[in-house]
Amino acid sequence: MLGDLSATDRSSEPLSPMDLYTHRAKLIQNEPFQFIGFNREFYPEIVNNGYTVQMNFKGENRPRLTGGGLRFNEYVVHNVHFHWDSEHTVNGCRFMLECHIQLIASEFRNFKEAAEKKGLAILASLWRFSDQENPSINTVLASHEAIATNPKIPALAEHPIIISQLIPENTSNYFRYEGTITYPPFYNNTLTVFAERAHLTRKQLYILSDIYNEVGDAVVYNNLQTIKSKNAPIVYFNGDKSSCKCLKFP
Ligand SMILES: [Zn+2]
Repeated sequence: MLGDLSATDRSSEPLSPMDLYTHRAKLIQNEPFQFIGFNREFYPEIVNNGYTVQMNFKGENRPRLTGGGLRFNEYVVHNVHFHWDSEHTVNGCRFMLECHIQLIASEFRNFKEAAEKKGLAILASLWRFSDQENPSINTVLASHEAIATNPKIPALAEHPIIISQLIPENTSNYFRYEGTITYPPFYNNTLTVFAERAHLTRKQLYILSDIYNEVGDAVVYNNLQTIKSKNAPIVYFNGDKSSCKCLKFP
């Protein structure tokens, strides 16, 4: 409802991203996630939105997610985007890349409708460097030349992307909190930050992060402050806390 100050689908201040600490997080044990279509090949639209590289998922056959103690029974993938450096820190470490899989509860028709009913969730993966290229990052990079200096003009992926390649293999260890999206209005957003990491090569990150906004400036490194508010949400940890490595440069 317009102007309804009692609305509870949003916060008056951002509640994400956060500094996450394993020793402070309360242990929980949710039922396992079930990833449906995360191993399938998709050809999403890839766009430089002026802030990041984003892949938009549309239509009926989008990858879906159930389980994991989320508020709604089932979510669908809405978009996938990246932040460099990471938005979240873990045990005082910031990582060179964070990937967000933005989901909306599947009973809602669009992002806004889901946002207004607390139906937003994010799967966040933190990344490490590897000698092995990540095939799905290569898919993004195949469209990179077309989008890097052409903000807001989407390109269709020429090669398939497999979303499971953008999250760690082990998804049973993660931080969980009820945060918000990071821009106003600060709609509620259920955050899952995996403790183990996805991987790409240094060269892949170098190319991925070389994009330009509408005035021709290079998109800068993430400079969002982690929240220090007294209203900070309670952070939970699902699984085995010892799985949580904190090495910035492995
Ligand atoms: Zn994000």
